[in-house]
Amino acid sequence: MAKRVINFYAGPAALPLPALERAQAELLDFENTGMSVMEISHRAKEYDAVHNEAIALIKELLNVPDNYKVLFLQGGGNLQFAMLPMNILHSGRKADYIVTGSWAKKAFKEAQIVAGDAARCIASTEGEKFTRLPKPAEIKVNTDAAYVHICTNNTIYGTQWKEFPKTGNIPIAADMSSDFMWRPFDVKPFGFIYAGAQKNLGPSGLVVAIIRDDFLEMCSDKLPTMLQYKIHAEKNSLYNTPPCFSIYILRNVLMYNKQIGGLDAIYKNNLKKGELLYGMIDKYPDFYRGYVKVKEDRSFMNVDFNLPSEELDAKFVSEAKKAGMVGLKGYRTLGGIRVSMYNAVTVAQIETLCGFMEEFVKKA
Ligand SMILES: *Cc1c(COP(=O)(O)O)cnc(C)c1O
Repeated sequence: MAKRVINFYAGPAALPLPALERAQAELLDFENTGMSVMEISHRAKEYDAVHNEAIALIKELLNVPDNYKVLFLQGGGNLQFAMLPMNILHSGRKADYIVTGSWAKKAFKEAQIVAGDAARCIASTEGEKFTRLPKPAEIKVNTDAAYVHICTNNTIYGTQWKEFPKTGNIPIAADMSSDFMWRPFDVKPFGFIYAGAQKNLGPSGLVVAIIRDDFLEMCSDKLPTMLQYKIHAEKNSLYNTPPCFSIYILRNVLMYNKQIGGLDAIYKNNLKKGELLYGMIDKYPDFYRGYVKVKEDRSFMNVDFNLPSEELDAKFVSEAKKAGMVGLKGYRTLGGIRVSMYNAVTVAQIETLCGFMEEFVKKA
C-alpha cells in the first residue's frame, strides 16, 4: 500500500483514491488494447468511448438540459477569461462583471483587454479586501449586458456564492474552477460555465465548460480557429488532440462520484465538512481567526484563517505536516492557513484535522 497523506492543497488538489487506483490498475493495458490510454489515438474508438462517457456523466450528474453542450478546452481557467469576451463581446455587445476576488478581477481585466469599456464592473468588494460578497441590493445589472460574469468560489479569499445573483433574462457566465459540482445546482440561468479541472474535478491541463445553445449562437466565427467555442462544440472537443489522460482521469472521478450517490451525496459530505471545520473555528475565534467576516459567505471549499502570530502559523503548518497533513500554508499574500477541502477530501480527514486543531489550541 502506498503511503498517502491528507492533502489540503488548493490546486492541483486531492483526487478520489478509487479514481487513481483504477488508473493504476489499467495503466499498462487499457481495456485489452495492450497500451495505456495515453498511447491511443484520440480518433480511436477506445478513446472516443472515454471522452463521450465523461461528457455523458457530467450531463447526468448535473442534470444538464438538452440545449447545452459540454466542452473540453485547454489553456486553464485563465484562457477562458479572454476567450469568453472574445467570443461574445463583438458587434457592440457589452457585459457586466462582479469582482469578488483575485480570479474574478483577472477575468474582468482580461475582458477589458479584449473589449475595453464594453466590459463593466458593476459590483466589487475589493475595498473590503474581499472579506464578503456583495449583497443583492449592491448589484445592479445593466439591461444591455450580454452576460453577467461571476466567480462562484473564491479560492484565495474563501468566499462562495450559495445563491447566485438574480440577473433576470441575462445569462450568467461563471468561473466555477474551484467549486464545480460541489453540490447539485440549476444550470438554466447560466449561458456559460467553465472550470479548470485541477481543483474539484481532475488533473490540470483540462477545462470543463458548459455552453447554452443560444449563447453559442452569439459566439464569433471570426477568431482564430482554436479560440472559437463554435468549432470546439461542432467537433465535440476533438478539433485537435485533447488532453486525453486528463479527460480519462476526469471520467474515473465522475464514475466514482456517481457510484457514491451523485451530487446529493457529495453535497451532504461537503456540508458536514464545513460544519466540522467552521465549528472548530467558531469554538476558538480568538485563536483561529477566520478571514471571511460574513458567515453566509464562507466557502465550503477553501477556508482561510490566521493564528495569533506568524510563528504559530508556521508551527501549525509544520506540526500538521508531521501528522500527515499537507498543503495548509496560506496563500502567499494572505499568510495564515488555508484549508482546501474539495470533493475528494473526506469527512474523516476533516475530523482528523479538527482533532489536530483542538490539540493545537490546548498546547499553544
Ligand atoms: C485556479 C483558478 C483559476 C486559474 O486556473 P488556471 O487553470 O491556473 O488558469 C481560475 N479561477 C479560479 C476560481 C481558480 O481557482
